[in-house]
Amino acid sequence: MSTALASLAAAERATFLARNPRSRALSERAAQHLLFGVPLHWMTDWGTPFALHVAQARGARLTDVDGHELSDFCLGDTGAMFGHAPAPVARALVRQAGEGYTAMLASEDAAVVGERLAERFGLPHWQFAMSATDANRFVLRWLRAASGRTKLVVFDGCYHGTVDDVFVDLVDGRPAVRASLLGQVHDLTAHTRVVPFNDLAALEAALAPGDVACVLAEPAMTNIGMVLPAPGFWAAAQALIRQHGAALVLDETHTISCGPGGYTRAHGLQPDALVLGKPVGGGVPCAVYGFSAEWAERAMRAKRAAPPGHSGIGTTLSGNLLAMAAMRATLDELMTEAVYAPMLARAGRLADGLRAVIARHGLPWCVTQLGVRAEFQFRTTPPRNGAEAAVAFDDALEHLIHLALLNRGVLITPFHNMLLVCPATTDEDVQRLLGALDEVLAWCSTDPARLAPSLDRTVVSDPSISGIPSRNVNEPPKEGGQIG
Ligand code: PMP
Repeated sequence: MSTALASLAAAERATFLARNPRSRALSERAAQHLLFGVPLHWMTDWGTPFALHVAQARGARLTDVDGHELSDFCLGDTGAMFGHAPAPVARALVRQAGEGYTAMLASEDAAVVGERLAERFGLPHWQFAMSATDANRFVLRWLRAASGRTKLVVFDGCYHGTVDDVFVDLVDGRPAVRASLLGQVHDLTAHTRVVPFNDLAALEAALAPGDVACVLAEPAMTNIGMVLPAPGFWAAAQALIRQHGAALVLDETHTISCGPGGYTRAHGLQPDALVLGKPVGGGVPCAVYGFSAEWAERAMRAKRAAPPGHSGIGTTLSGNLLAMAAMRATLDELMTEAVYAPMLARAGRLADGLRAVIARHGLPWCVTQLGVRAEFQFRTTPPRNGAEAAVAFDDALEHLIHLALLNRGVLITPFHNMLLVCPATTDEDVQRLLGALDEVLAWCSTDPARLAPSLDRTVVSDPSISGIPSRNVNEPPKEGGQIG
């Protein structure tokens, strides 16, 4: 980091320290008994000198323990995409609270939720989990059992929760277990193949041996920065996957930002299985996964053929009564076209506003919108795969921007520069964000040392990416993005 930005970062840290004495006191107290002083070690990733403590979260706003009201564009990294404590879910929880939380038995809500999911996503058979991580893990088990095949294909730079199988990256063109994993003892490359997103030739090569149980993917990558599918990518990829007898699993946990049926319905994709976690219970822990009739039949046949005993699939609280009530309320009253329409329009205004602020400061950065989600990346053109997206990372600059926004009353996701709009987000929240960002970026634009690397890192064309027609980089992507 340049000297100018380092001194700005020091000033922002000092501001944070002065503004948040109660958070600081609670952090010191928590440090006595919580590992890293936080309930989850990731909470140290915010780039704040100590953890911000929340007093209340309602709608699009958080109030911290020092009494600052923040416009929240992080929204629990999608868990609160329908707003904090949304009224329909709060009502359902209150109703269910007097009638039991968990019984290891079905309720009427379960049948209703199954019907809603089938109608929504076009897949007839569903199961439940407590997190998107578990849903992905369980789907992999089912599909390996159903297909009798062992291999998994994922896209380089993907994230599907803490599912061990997916943590294989391309390093210098070769698969390697993600170096940051802790306590992982298995050779994950033995059963996982990894290919660059948007690379049909690499996908075909990975499928060619005929031993792939499934391809697990986000329809648009969101966890290495946003990477949209190139025009025609999914049409061709689906055909290849089908031709090689593998199943396509779409993880819609983040791309549900595109609409009530996720990216899948917005773009007419036809996965064999679908996973949705985080916001499906309006912020209450739960997740769902569904199968096509064919794969459901094969999965059930595998279970019936197995010896009695543990399947390795499911947990005690999966499908509990409270989660079912929350999901029913979310599906009926929040995951609807009527709720999404104004969110999508506001996210469009947010993305346009981000572009305008970035342009005003002459920064070589791009903005990508995926429904109610938007992101700015430190490169001139949208990346086409995980490697291109990763090159644009700049942790120090991101932390500085996030901290400076926080000091100005705006919270965004700690990982890259992702923002979400919820039903309660107002134009005032959007203006607050854009005003704060304008102020923050004024520094960056006065620091040529900071700008030079982002320009250098831009990869405009890469002939090694095959099978995809090259796009005019100034054109918005056609398949994906700009849905709002
Ligand atoms: N799938 C995707 C696409 C995700 O982005 C995430 C989390 N960011 C997960 C799965 C895992 O969700 P959870 O941590 O709630 O299990």
